[in-house]
Amino acid sequence: MTSSVVSLGLKFKALSSNITDEGITAHYGGDSPWGKGGVNRSDHNRCPTIVRAWHDYHLSKGWSGLAYSAVVCPHGIIYQGRWANRRTAANGTNAGNQRSYAVCYLAGGDDAVTTEAKRAFHLSAALLRSSLRWRHSDWKSTSCPGKPIRKWSQAGWPLPPGPNPLPPNPPHPTEEYFVTPEDERKFEAMLDRKLETQTNGILEFILRCARRTCLASSSTSWPSGPL
Ligand SMILES: [Zn+2]
Ligand SMILES: [Zn+2]
Repeated sequence: MTSSVVSLGLKFKALSSNITDEGITAHYGGDSPWGKGGVNRSDHNRCPTIVRAWHDYHLSKGWSGLAYSAVVCPHGIIYQGRWANRRTAANGTNAGNQRSYAVCYLAGGDDAVTTEAKRAFHLSAALLRSSLRWRHSDWKSTSCPGKPIRKWSQAGWPLPPGPNPLPPNPPHPTEEYFVTPEDERKFEAMLDRKLETQTNGILEFILRCARRTCLASSSTSWPSGPL
């Protein structure tokens, strides 16, 4: 069994660990790499190449490398970016980069969010010990993350039922899977539990408050999506 979480072995310059994540910010990847056919015409063989190209482009801008914590492709694969405990450079403001991981959809602003991608967004959140929370436009004025992700977020980021399909074979031999299949099964089980509770978000929120005694916190707010 393969994992749907992939490290491309991207080499970053020094990354800051100055981040206190409170939730994930969703992005799209600019102009669609898939053209007029959209994600229906997308080719997974191109996904790792595109992620590498973004990394090179961000390096060329003088950044430390790919600005995102992770990239999710329409085929349900999660590409490791800066990953956990590393400050992002994608959220547009100091506050955004301080308070939020950045996960980018490997698609354009008008491309549909596939079922596989939605599950991969949730899996990336679980792996980062976080939750889907913000859109890039919540931090600054931008069209990112585009209409389909905006609509999904406004619905509370619902997790589609069913397991992710078996991920496509890695197109490049240099890719490494860095999450063991056992770990991934564990997180998939977490997602299944999440699916069971997402229709009862208010009860879950109360339970979470009880667990974290967040009622005592002045920063308490209703969650923007399911746990
Ligand atoms: Zn963005
Ligand atoms: Zn793909």
